Amino acid sequence: MDTAGTERIARCECGQLRLRCLGEPLRVSMCHCQSCQRRTGSVFGVQVRFRREQVSIEGESRVFVRTGDSGGRGELHFCPHCASTVFWFLDAEPELIAVAIGAIGDHSLPLPLYSVYESRRFPWTDMPALADIEHYD
Ligand SMILES: [Zn+2]
Ligand SMILES: [Zn+2]
Repeated sequence: MDTAGTERIARCECGQLRLRCLGEPLRVSMCHCQSCQRRTGSVFGVQVRFRREQVSIEGESRVFVRTGDSGGRGELHFCPHCASTVFWFLDAEPELIAVAIGAIGDHSLPLPLYSVYESRRFPWTDMPALADIEHYD
């Protein structure tokens, strides 16, 4: 199947910050680290990674620079009006952009293949659909 023409729109809750994501993502992953728990206010974060050239950004964002649980630096972009974090860049992967899966909200996205910081995972978040993915503490 040729999916190079697939286009998905990610947007913040109020809609002024929008990303057009072309083609398929490189990977989808889940992160249970405390930074992601605080950022989302939920039990884990799920990020969809694209190459930077696959994504065009419209609208205004503010930046929060964070140092993650393992010391990696990240630049989180959020909407100054509704506060949704929509995308981020990690210093360790400068050629990539990570997009919050909930901002895309497209159920055709591939399943996550990795689940990291499982040592901080809420124990009740065991998901049968993800039994075969790679798990990392
Ligand atoms: Zn917004
Ligand atoms: Zn995380």
